Amino acid sequence: MIEPTTRELLKRLVAFDTTSRRSNLRLVEAVEDWLERHGVASRRVYDATGRKANLFATIGPERPDGVILSGHLDTVPVDDQDWSGDPFQLREDGGRLIGRGTVDMKGFDAVALAKVPAMVKADLARPIHLALTYDEEVGCLGVRTLLEKLQAEGFDAAGCVVGEPSGMAVVLGHKGKHSFDVEIAGRECHSAMAPHGVNAVEFGARLIAKISDIGRRLAVEGPFDPAYAVPHATTHVGTCHGGTALNIVPDACRLAFEVRHFTAQPAEPLIAEIEAFARDELEPAMRAVAPEARLRFTRTSRVPGFDIAADHALVRTVARLAGTALGGKVAFATEAGLFAEWLRVPTVVCGPGDIARAHRPDESVTVDQLAACERFVDRLIDAMTRPV
Ligand SMILES: [Zn+2]
Repeated sequence: MIEPTTRELLKRLVAFDTTSRRSNLRLVEAVEDWLERHGVASRRVYDATGRKANLFATIGPERPDGVILSGHLDTVPVDDQDWSGDPFQLREDGGRLIGRGTVDMKGFDAVALAKVPAMVKADLARPIHLALTYDEEVGCLGVRTLLEKLQAEGFDAAGCVVGEPSGMAVVLGHKGKHSFDVEIAGRECHSAMAPHGVNAVEFGARLIAKISDIGRRLAVEGPFDPAYAVPHATTHVGTCHGGTALNIVPDACRLAFEVRHFTAQPAEPLIAEIEAFARDELEPAMRAVAPEARLRFTRTSRVPGFDIAADHALVRTVARLAGTALGGKVAFATEAGLFAEWLRVPTVVCGPGDIARAHRPDESVTVDQLAACERFVDRLIDAMTRPV
C-alpha cells in the first residue's frame, strides 16, 4: 500500500509529457504549486533557452549538514514503442504502476514530494533539499546548471541520495563516461586511382582498430573492480558512417566512440592515447598524399562516475534507513557523479524499482517498491529531526 498522495502525485507527474526534448515548465509549475501550498519556497534554475528548469527547494533550517534527495523530471521518448495503453495515463496492473517515467524516475519524485508535508511538520534539525532536474536522459546535462549555481553560493550538504531505480539497495558506484565524435577528412578520387586519394573510411577503420585494441588491453590488464558486471574500463565505437559508392575513394567518414572508466582510473590518458595515434600515426600518413586531410575530435559528453566506500557513514545511514543491503556497483550512469564531483558531497544511488523496466514500453514500478521508498523517506525525516 502507498499513500493516496503518492499515487495522486505520480499520476500528475506522469501526465506531463516531459520527454527530454520538450519544455518541462508546466510540470515545474505544478511542483512549485504543490510546494507552495505547504509553505515551501523553491527556485528555478533554467537552461540557456529558458524552456526547461531545475527546481531546488530546502525544507528545514539553512545549514550545511542536510541531505539532498535528487531526481530528474525528464523521461526518454515513447516514440516507436509498443505500449499497451496511454503512456501518460497512470494505470495499475497486478501491483505495478505503469506509465512513462514511473520507474525512471517520477516514482521517486512522487514519493519525495508526497512527503513534503511531513517534512514541514517534522521540525527538522537538519535540512532536506529537493533537487529536481531536466535533461538527465540526454547526458545528465540539466543538473549542471543547478550545481554551478549551488557551487557559486558555497552550498554544502552532508550527503546526497540520487533516487534512480536500485530496488532501494544502496549503490556504491558507477563508471564515468566520455563520448566523442570524430570527423575524418580525406581526399576523394576514382577508385581506380586509389593511391592518389586519401580513403577516409580506411583511416577511420584504423582508428576504430586502435580504440578496440585499447579496449582489449583494458580487459586483459585491468585495473579490475570485481563489484562491476564488467570489471574493467571499456572502449566502444557505436557508429561509423562514410562512403557513397564502391568506385569512389571516400573523402569523409564520421564515427562516435566512448570510454567508460572507474573514478580511480581517469579516462584522460586513454583518450590522449587515441588522440595521439590519430595525430602522430594517421594524420602524417594522410597528409603525405593530401595536406588538407585531418581527423577532428569533438567531445560530445562527459558524465563523471562515482565511488563511495561501503563503510562510509552515508552508506551505512542510507542502508539502515532504507532497510536494505548494499547494492554493489551498477552499469548505468546517473547524476551521482556530478553531485560528488562538483559539490564534493558524499553521494549514493538508492531508489525504488528495477532499472530493467526503465526506457521500455509499459515501463512500471511496483507499489511495494514505492511503499519501501516511503518508509525510507519517513525514517530519513525522523533522523533529520536530530542533530548529528
Ligand atoms: Zn533516470
